[in-house]
Amino acid sequence: MAGDVNYTVDGNVAVVTINNPPVNAFGFDVRHGVIEAMNRAEADPAVTCVVLTGGGRTFSGGADITEFGKTPREPSLPDVNTRCETMSKPVVAAIHGFAFGGGLEVSLSCHGRIASADAKLALPEVKLGLIPGAGGTQRLPRLIGPEAALDVIVPGNPVGAKKALEVDILDRVAGDDLLADAKAFALELAAAGEMPKALRDREDKLEAARRDPSALDAHAANLTKKARGLEAPLACVRAVRMALDTPFDEALAKEREMFIELMNGEQSKAQRHLFFAEREANKVPGIDRDVKPRKVSKAAVIGAGTMGGGIAMALANGGVPVTILEMNQEAIDRGMAVIQRNYDTSVKRGSISAEERDRRLGRLSTTTNYDDIADADLVIEAVFEEMSVKKVVFGKLDEVMKPGAILASNTSYLDVDAIAQMTKRPSDVLGMHFFSPANVMKLLEIVRGKETAPDVIATALALGKQIGKVPVVVGVCHGFVGNRMLSSRSAENESLLLEGASPSDVDKAFLDFGFSMGPFAMGDLAGLDIGWRTRKSLGETAAIGDALCEAGRYGQKTGKGFYSYEDGPRDGKPDPWVDALIEEKAKELGVNRRSISADEIIERTIYPMINEGARILEEGIALRPSDIDIVWINGYAFPIGKGGPMFWAEQAGLAHIVERLEYWHGKTGNPVFEPAELLRKAAKTGLSLASAMGGKDEVA
Ligand code: NAD
Repeated sequence: MAGDVNYTVDGNVAVVTINNPPVNAFGFDVRHGVIEAMNRAEADPAVTCVVLTGGGRTFSGGADITEFGKTPREPSLPDVNTRCETMSKPVVAAIHGFAFGGGLEVSLSCHGRIASADAKLALPEVKLGLIPGAGGTQRLPRLIGPEAALDVIVPGNPVGAKKALEVDILDRVAGDDLLADAKAFALELAAAGEMPKALRDREDKLEAARRDPSALDAHAANLTKKARGLEAPLACVRAVRMALDTPFDEALAKEREMFIELMNGEQSKAQRHLFFAEREANKVPGIDRDVKPRKVSKAAVIGAGTMGGGIAMALANGGVPVTILEMNQEAIDRGMAVIQRNYDTSVKRGSISAEERDRRLGRLSTTTNYDDIADADLVIEAVFEEMSVKKVVFGKLDEVMKPGAILASNTSYLDVDAIAQMTKRPSDVLGMHFFSPANVMKLLEIVRGKETAPDVIATALALGKQIGKVPVVVGVCHGFVGNRMLSSRSAENESLLLEGASPSDVDKAFLDFGFSMGPFAMGDLAGLDIGWRTRKSLGETAAIGDALCEAGRYGQKTGKGFYSYEDGPRDGKPDPWVDALIEEKAKELGVNRRSISADEIIERTIYPMINEGARILEEGIALRPSDIDIVWINGYAFPIGKGGPMFWAEQAGLAHIVERLEYWHGKTGNPVFEPAELLRKAAKTGLSLASAMGGKDEVA
């Protein structure tokens, strides 16, 4: 028997156990081993039925994704399915932990499914830019109907055992002893005399949609309306739809073809890159398993404004009790009213229950007195972005907080080392930079100061994960990774307007690139006055942005900004007043206006960001190119199908990027275009950015 699969016989039941830690992936040895075990059970006259299960903590995490993109080795996962499905003795899948992707697909080719109460089931292939490629799109609709199958396959989210039983993915939920219950179930099926019908032969759940597919199509359209240029969700729908009119074997072959085509495409490559990148981001030099996080059973947040409120919600949602400290009761009331409203909206939308809202609200308390937060394990400061204000707050925290408490700042730009120096415990200080709205956005930049202790970083990483964030450790500089790269494009946004583009030309180029919003619509949403105030404090100007603010046009909140919002905040319209302003400013500055292509817009906005990303790598502010991609995907809605700015740059060709940067540098003199040494080196040598940095991967 292949080493990864164990075969035992208990009475008349053969028990086939997958042992391929950590997640029992269906790698080559497992596929081979399961088929061999089924053959053995088939041939043994003493065996009347089979239980297929996973060793260790889980059933199976699915295909071995390190095999993706390599030459396939037979037997394939569909071969494993066929072997299980064509057994002359009933096979029952006994699921604990999770059955994901190929793991769930194999269980669908068994004759029965039973799971422990805490098991989770999913077909998450869509998240890697794929469709289920081992029969999932054909067997699941036959088991639970095509609409319900789309609900599982298109979002790709896990379904708990209880829900899976309700929708009939599972036949049973086990009591305390899964294996014993699974054996009993298998024996029952065997005793029934007649083999249960394999899913491939079941058509009844498809009949209604075959007669009239309109409800299914409407449901599919609703599920995919937020696909934002991603191919996989639409392919999932097409594949499930095949179940209605394509014979089973032909549909399986087509499903496989679609799977392979997606796997070889750019989007899936990008999404697989992001899958590994997110895991890689957890690996931080000096923070290994020996560094134990500090315990955080109580937290405090200073400031109940936009960010403080959101951060407090994020903590409460993750089960951490939080005390919010503000300057006065009025500010507390304002902040708490926003929090209450946000939770009420979630209840109205059905995303949480009223009880869950009350539990979360119950974790929040408020105060104006520092003594009330002195025993918190972690405090996150989110007061105004001014060093003088931060200084007062950190001085006070240093005075009152218990020894060992972690002191974090949510600053967007300020020097975390300087903030740490305001205390007598700089090793307990770090940046925890959340993104707005902080209860929703996934990114958490963990800013490691010069003196931040390793266990403080480990705590921030662990807490970030506990509250559902994607943490990335970065170094100290103005704006850290995300905002620093964002700043590198802002001057060019203005220049493009002066030289001939309209705000909607620029925004459209961003939409076509795959962003859900362009920079001007985004500016209007966030409030143009924020950048205006920052520029004033730094002695900087922006001809058009400043003029808009001077005219009281702060964006959506004043009904006017780069666009006008007469028909509501979501419906910005180009405004002739802005066009006239741009022309007037161009004339004043002696700029000749001309027509500007979408390619030029992308080259002058996205390429400087890539360049700044390379500088960030040179300076060691980000540890690896993929960390930058994680920042931009989770904090700035960079299009997922492009894999993040650094991955996209490598796909587009670093030599091309350097050439275009040099061109624009020559033409504009703007230093944001002067190619970073790292980019030049990678472009010249043909190395990937990681290799050019001296990293581990080979020539790109
Ligand atoms: P905000 O103006 O909405 O809220 C700041 C709050 O802090 C106010 O409610 C104010 O009353 C309170 N406050 C001020 N001084 C205080 C003090 N001494 N003690 C207690 N409370 C005090 O600002 P915001 O947008 O929430 O930003 C807060 C911080 O988060 C800033 O450092 C900002 O740079 C950063 N940040 C903001 C965003 C964003 O998109 N708004 C994103 C990431 C980080």
